[in-house]
Amino acid sequence: MSTPVTLVLDGCAVVTMDGRGSEYASGHVVVTGNLITAVGAGSPPAGSLVGSVRRVDASGCLATPGLINTHHHLYQWGTRGMAADATLFEWLTQLYPVWTRMDADLVRPLATAALAWLARTGCSTTMDHHYVFPKSGGDLLGATVAAARQVGLRFHPTRGSMDLGASSGGLPPDNAVEDRDAILLASEAAIDQFHDASADSMLRIGLAPCSPFSVTKELLTETADLARQSKVRLHTHLAETADEDRYCAVRFGCTPVEYLDSLGWLGDDVWLAHAVHLDDAAIGRLAASGTGVAHCPSSNGRLGAGVCRTHDLLAAGVRVGLGVDGAASSEESSLIGEVRQATLTARATGGPQAMSVRGALELATMGGARVIGRDQEIGSLEAGKLADIALWRLDTLPHAGIADPVAALVLGARPPLELLLVNGQTIVERDQLVTVDERQLVADARRASASLAHSQ
Ligand SMILES: [Zn+2]
Repeated sequence: MSTPVTLVLDGCAVVTMDGRGSEYASGHVVVTGNLITAVGAGSPPAGSLVGSVRRVDASGCLATPGLINTHHHLYQWGTRGMAADATLFEWLTQLYPVWTRMDADLVRPLATAALAWLARTGCSTTMDHHYVFPKSGGDLLGATVAAARQVGLRFHPTRGSMDLGASSGGLPPDNAVEDRDAILLASEAAIDQFHDASADSMLRIGLAPCSPFSVTKELLTETADLARQSKVRLHTHLAETADEDRYCAVRFGCTPVEYLDSLGWLGDDVWLAHAVHLDDAAIGRLAASGTGVAHCPSSNGRLGAGVCRTHDLLAAGVRVGLGVDGAASSEESSLIGEVRQATLTARATGGPQAMSVRGALELATMGGARVIGRDQEIGSLEAGKLADIALWRLDTLPHAGIADPVAALVLGARPPLELLLVNGQTIVERDQLVTVDERQLVADARRASASLAHSQ
């Protein structure tokens, strides 16, 4: 039997995000293998130091749970900066034709770059929502899985889909959508090939028809049946813009939430991206059904979509996490930046009590863990949980002198990331990626973006 390796983060501030709000001004986090074994004030207990011990002097830093990203489209790294001043429907209409030129050789470097930047911004677990599958594109889902394995993030990709082309009343062009039977077969194959339900899983699959204006009712219903038979989660975009509200009123005679409800698409195995345009009844339905929300304030601002009622959702008991959304509608794509944006967005309309700094950090940690069904395993720093930890340096120019480390992290500039551990493995050290060569990623992603923009 090999000697266990124990890592000790010593002398840092610790914000655990456990249910008791435990915080330590100077404390420790001990990791053995892929598990957290001790968290507390002062020095670690001697009994926690087993096997070969590596001690990190973490003074000047703040340890938080690794952040959890609940909505993204990794491939969109290749189409950043386009349609820069457009509404969602205008932006989609411009970008769909570009996305139909994707293939696995382009998606691999783009997804790797997007995942690497997420890691640099404190993200240890991310989902991906890939929903454009061109006929000659190859294994796009496989390309994102390979990218996540290379970077080392815990990965919850969803097999997305669109089957409602423009000729049938949908928004996407016909050549951007797939046949329903092919989608269902590919979804089943993705679960069989990749889904790992184990407690320390690094890879879980979900199913994610794209939106009410790009998929048929039949696809939504049959995908929900498949997900529930296979015990995987369901995800979609919903209630993102006023245009979508109007589309649902005209086509279905109801609101987006009523539409999903009528199809059995609300439940504690479902989470929805955006959920901006909700009335009180819709918030009540999300709360009563246990449906989660991925709040993406930067993307909502970028596209002028509106302001999510996060305060009301949380007050009603809805599970809410944060998402950077795809990089094409959220070029910053920084998960710690999204925590700041969520704070400011909530306060801009609801006053300073609408979102506390600790409440915003909770969205990105335990909130996200609840949304993706991993709150027993990740999302807080507690003995027995998986070792997904972000260690932020707060003793340099932008933050030194701010007494409350959570205020410094949430309201201040993005701090240097001293260390990012995922499943006990080091992914970022001293603000540098250790699993991938960032300069190579820059070159590869630039080449892939140019190829997408110019190919016909
Ligand atoms: Zn999205």
